[in-house]
Amino acid sequence: MLKSKTAVVTGSTSGIGLAIARALAKEGASVLINGFGPADEIEKERAAIESEFGVKAIYSPADMSKPEEIEGMIRLAEKTYGGVDVLVNNAGIQFVSPVEDFPVEKWNQIIAINLSSAFHTIRAALPGMKARKWGRVINTASAHSLIASPFKSAYVAAKHGIAGLTKTVALEAATHGITVNCISPGYVWTPLVEKQIPDTMKARGLTKEQVINDVLLEAQPTKQFVTVDQIAALAVFLCSDAASQITGANLSMDGGWTAK
Ligand code: NAD
Repeated sequence: MLKSKTAVVTGSTSGIGLAIARALAKEGASVLINGFGPADEIEKERAAIESEFGVKAIYSPADMSKPEEIEGMIRLAEKTYGGVDVLVNNAGIQFVSPVEDFPVEKWNQIIAINLSSAFHTIRAALPGMKARKWGRVINTASAHSLIASPFKSAYVAAKHGIAGLTKTVALEAATHGITVNCISPGYVWTPLVEKQIPDTMKARGLTKEQVINDVLLEAQPTKQFVTVDQIAALAVFLCSDAASQITGANLSMDGGWTAK
């Protein structure tokens, strides 16, 4: 479906982003992967995408908190592939703390990575999409783009922001063959969720089992984690012709969490 298309997926060395990059590659897209991690593991993932799916895969170490590196990443994809057809803004971090103790530098970092990076990728990639009259922008938002949880002020603010950015750019790009949507997962079992368990244990005085069952899965009526492959399948669908009239949407995949 995506043969001759190219995709940039931010934060794709792990978790949801890696699953989306692999799913787009499986559909024939050449991909640029991005994110942090041990160089040998990233190279293994990059090479696996090329060998398993017969597409080209390149890696950019651009830091999503640095606008000039973000622009460089988009230019690298354009130079290598001739353009960016699918842009997935997925990089994100979490920090859990009461608002009055929330470290200012953590607030700034979360707003930069989880929200502003999408502004910078979009402004760099959109002109090329407009010129080619086709594009897909998919932002990984969160159930926290719709509702809040205590102790996640920066994350919830950034995710509400990305939902607003999604709608705005969808309107601006609507007549150019470009759709702009966000996917809002509930809890997905990835390193991001695993890493916040100790802080939630501390903030709420709970055991690990209590955090998993009483805090995380408590939110989700299905009592199951979303899988990264389920999110990737929705991203692939959003790239299809069948989804060409879905734009400006915030698509929940949260086991019923935000229905409550
Ligand atoms: P993850 O920790 O597995 O992956 C995050 C990715 O972002 C990694 O590749 C990491 O290297 C990269 N990254 C972090 N900081 C970066 C930076 N400064 N520059 C470039 N890359 C950076 O997390 P995940 O759970 O796969 O999360 C991916 C996205 O999904 C995030 O935006 C997150 O907010 C969102 N999300 C996750 C869940 C969940 O339950 N896991 C739920 C809703 C939304």
